[in-house]
Amino acid sequence: MRIGVNGGTFDPIHFGHLRPALEVLESLALDEMRFIPACQPVHRGTPSVAASHRVRMVELAIAPQPRFVLDRREIDRGGPSYMVETLESVKRDFPTAELVLMMGADAIAAFTRWHRWQDILKLANIVVTRRPGAENRLPDALALYRQNWHFEKVGDPPLHFDAPAGKIGFLPVTQLDISATAIRARLAAGRSVRYLTPETVVEYIDTHQLYRKETHAG
Ligand code: ATP
Repeated sequence: MRIGVNGGTFDPIHFGHLRPALEVLESLALDEMRFIPACQPVHRGTPSVAASHRVRMVELAIAPQPRFVLDRREIDRGGPSYMVETLESVKRDFPTAELVLMMGADAIAAFTRWHRWQDILKLANIVVTRRPGAENRLPDALALYRQNWHFEKVGDPPLHFDAPAGKIGFLPVTQLDISATAIRARLAAGRSVRYLTPETVVEYIDTHQLYRKETHAG
């Protein structure tokens, strides 16, 4: 079994999370992609809305897609959301599965500052998706882990990592210049975010009046 792990603040989730996740799922023939909203992200400020809202928006966004799964373990664990602990916990649940951690090119650039990053590479392979505005190179400290893939044309057979863990590969995905920061800014300015995120999420934000100027985390 091959399991994708897609961690994020999802504050809120948007098409820049969803479309690359689907392309990773298909390109690597994963059995499932687990969306794992962070409780307290480690390298950034407190999320703008409560975890319960972020979780519900993920749930609504992924509902139409088979093999996309909401995974609440970081929220249920509470406290700072260290990815290494999350992967250890997924591994306990699925001891024989190959874990594929997905992250955008902006995230891999900071990866060697993550808590116990070497242990992450003992637990999982990493697929890096290109992201507009982010430099598409692996930090020198990670060169050792590079997976050399020679493709990709749509329709090629699924990609495989050479090892069950410890490899980092870049996957070209459809480029969507969308960020949660820009979505929050639009909402704070009273503008629409339709077509940046699924309609169900737009409706949820509307119903609960999230990210308006007076919204506070709680
Ligand atoms: P914020 O703007 O609040 O920092 P974000 O839009 O970057 O949020 P996160 O939830 O912090 O979203 O990101 C989770 C993961 O999704 C990260 O690995 C990030 O690189 C990736 N990601 C987010 N947006 C995109 C995008 N448009 N294209 C590719 N990857 C993305």
